[in-house]
Amino acid sequence: MECTTNRAGTQCKFMGKNGCTFIAGACFQVVEQCEGCDRITENEAGKFCAVYPHPEMKWKRGVCNFATHVKAELPQTDQGTTLNPLKAAKRASRAG
Ligand code: SF4
Repeated sequence: MECTTNRAGTQCKFMGKNGCTFIAGACFQVVEQCEGCDRITENEAGKFCAVYPHPEMKWKRGVCNFATHVKAELPQTDQGTTLNPLKAAKRASRAG
């Protein structure tokens, strides 16, 4: 449905008949780490992310995976090759 809160006029899956169903009833503004990202949209309510309603949460565990201005660093093996993060997590759980 069409947003009637912070990103009025844009289509949003969190919008329902009774208003925004996201935490606190609206999107959160972007955070400092988002600066430079192409997904930032700005209106009179502030700066918001076009693809995620809570940008601060996207940066809690490292680089936002939707960011256009920064790339997450993939873990490296001892041989200097890139490690598949899913395989690394599986190995780590087996070793534990
Ligand atoms: S995609 Fe990530 S970095 Fe870009 S504005 Fe949204 S939350 Fe911020």
